[in-house]
Amino acid sequence: MAKQLSFVAFTQKFATPEACILHLEKIRFKDGESCPHCGSMGKIYRRSDLAYRCSDCGRNFHMIYGTMFGASKIKMLPNSHQSKKG
Ligand SMILES: [Zn+2]
Repeated sequence: MAKQLSFVAFTQKFATPEACILHLEKIRFKDGESCPHCGSMGKIYRRSDLAYRCSDCGRNFHMIYGTMFGASKIKMLPNSHQSKKG
């Protein structure tokens, strides 16, 4: 079993929110793309804002919803790797 990381620790593994999303996408869609709303498969399109759209029911969803993080409110943190200098 994989260790359960906090969402912050999880996102910090990735350079960008996009990289995090793409990683989640691989996990989420490992058995094929499917809509969390209607269950339709193979008609999922990723939008430019990293949300997804199901062409079957026309609803949008985000990759982070319906995952292990889905139960809590998610706020994607901006990269804050800058340390205090001087
Ligand atoms: Zn759908």
